[in-house]
Amino acid sequence: MYFSHISIGGGITGLETIISVFNKIKKDTQKLKKAKKRIKPKKITFAIVDKNPENIPGGVAYGFSLSRYGYFNNPIRLSPTQFTTWLFKKNNKKKLENYLKKYGGHTGKEWLKKNKNILFSSNREKQKEMYIPRAFLNIWMEERLIFLLSQIGKIDKKIPIRFEVKFFKGEVIAIKNSIKNHRKILFKDGFCEELNFKISNNPFKKITFNVKKKKLKSIFSITQNIGIGLPPPKQLATVKAQKNNCYIWDFYAQGSTSLLKEKIYFLNKRKKKIIAYFIGYKAGLLESLPELLQIIIKKKINIKIICSSKNLESIQAARLSLNKNKYKLKVLSKRNLNKINTAKKLYLSILKEFQISISNGYKKYDAWTQILNKNILNKCIKNFSLYQKNLYNDVYHNKVRNITRFTYPETIAAREKLSKKEILITKKESVKKVDVEKRKLVVVTKDEYHKSKKYICDLVINVSGPLDAGKIKNEIPIVKSLKQNGSIANDKGFVVSKNFELTSLKNIYIPGILARGFNPERKTIIQAILGNSNIVGQSIAKTLIRI
Ligand SMILES: Cc1cc2nc3c(=O)[nH]c(=O)nc-3n(C[C@H](O)[C@H](O)[C@H](O)COP(=O)(O)OP(=O)(O)OC[C@H]3O[C@@H](n4cnc5c(N)ncnc54)[C@H](O)[C@@H]3O)c2cc1C
Repeated sequence: MYFSHISIGGGITGLETIISVFNKIKKDTQKLKKAKKRIKPKKITFAIVDKNPENIPGGVAYGFSLSRYGYFNNPIRLSPTQFTTWLFKKNNKKKLENYLKKYGGHTGKEWLKKNKNILFSSNREKQKEMYIPRAFLNIWMEERLIFLLSQIGKIDKKIPIRFEVKFFKGEVIAIKNSIKNHRKILFKDGFCEELNFKISNNPFKKITFNVKKKKLKSIFSITQNIGIGLPPPKQLATVKAQKNNCYIWDFYAQGSTSLLKEKIYFLNKRKKKIIAYFIGYKAGLLESLPELLQIIIKKKINIKIICSSKNLESIQAARLSLNKNKYKLKVLSKRNLNKINTAKKLYLSILKEFQISISNGYKKYDAWTQILNKNILNKCIKNFSLYQKNLYNDVYHNKVRNITRFTYPETIAAREKLSKKEILITKKESVKKVDVEKRKLVVVTKDEYHKSKKYICDLVINVSGPLDAGKIKNEIPIVKSLKQNGSIANDKGFVVSKNFELTSLKNIYIPGILARGFNPERKTIIQAILGNSNIVGQSIAKTLIRI
């Protein structure tokens, strides 16, 4: 089957790119029609391929079932405006309340106790500081997908351009060069399956997919967009341990907090005490702690949770100082910005600004909020030479990220409560191996003095953080295949043009985390990838109209 464009991954960037291509072509042809210019007749066909169609359109982070119990790690203030405008409509606020009552678990009930009054008030400032369930972004994206499908059916008959969207289930493992402008998409197990979709009245999950009988060996397209989410962490388990049901490698994609709850309930029926080991101390650990805390207390579960990392650096609560005037930037003030012309100066200026904010009785987060509000990073990066821009993307962006990681305060509060109750135990050590001995999972660690230790565990969750795109070897076949086909990548990811097109493989676009420098301004990832996907959409639309 031949298509104009294929989105590999039916999550955020996969759908946003197609919406943007459609809107651009529609707008341009309407302009031509108005100007009474000739329009070349065309059929533009889109395919959305996902290895797990349940995730369409929210992907792993916001997909309806995978994101259950998960909250944004940024307040609404930092979310895309289009999304927040939608969220603040009265019926959507009501929908949020109903969603939390039905699907929010214990944390949902707690959330409503603390936030319901703010949600339904007219205090926009306070509302913008709320953290909401990530599944809500799926509901927004789903509305946009359904709107796209309806728009495609309503195209002005006088315009000689037709559109079509098809959906497929399949894991893409390679993109091969092929004939006449088209590339061939290859799948795991040698096939993909076309999907039917149904739109129901369920307010929380309207669109569902089911597989048609026909299997296809491959499909073809002129342009491709790759949006396959965060890479999994480094595989630390032996082959035997990987097969063990109680070792979780790719936590978010495998089912996240819902899966963990299931496993804990299962073990709780069989064990007097459960020993769980989280490899990691950052976002992956924090994600499930609020819901875990509640079930441990309410169901009186006897569990010990060990978590570890090499340096125990974590993420801080994103909490502004109360009852204080807004922090005024001292180092990164308007008149100093043109002096900041290197990546190192920018990094050091942020550090200095943080020191000053603390010495004036503020929090780092107060200063960081002002840096984001005033778009400081972008203003400085704009003045960098190409060398400094690259140095920033390859070295300093990561340094800046490490000192500016803030998250939903409830996750940090849950971690503190679990530590106080001595249920959560923190270890400064690195995990060398996860193995199976005498049918039990064993975690082998080494501490800072090179002393080894073995833990016998019932459950091991690898949340050691996503692999850098540049370091991926066999973990993601499509990434391996792109590297083999000559795409250029460094440690930080694939080298892309300003339109997010691979510099060495024309018409293949990567607007997200696999691309080097995809988010230099440290916007929220969702904000960055939606913007990038729109840039990709404009570029693809031009190509499809030209060919
Ligand atoms: C748990 C979690 C929480 C996050 N929280 C936030 C937040 O609060 N704020 C924020 O700004 N960002 C957050 N992010 C980051 C970011 O917003 C997401 O990672 C973003 O959705 C990525 O978009 P994407 O289109 O690349 O992938 P996704 O939207 O994840 O979609 C990828 C899709 O591709 C499919 N897929 C994967 N591999 C293949 C393949 N080989 N073939 C076919 N299909 C495939 C998957 O099934 C999935 O449906 C979070 C990420 C995660 C994982």
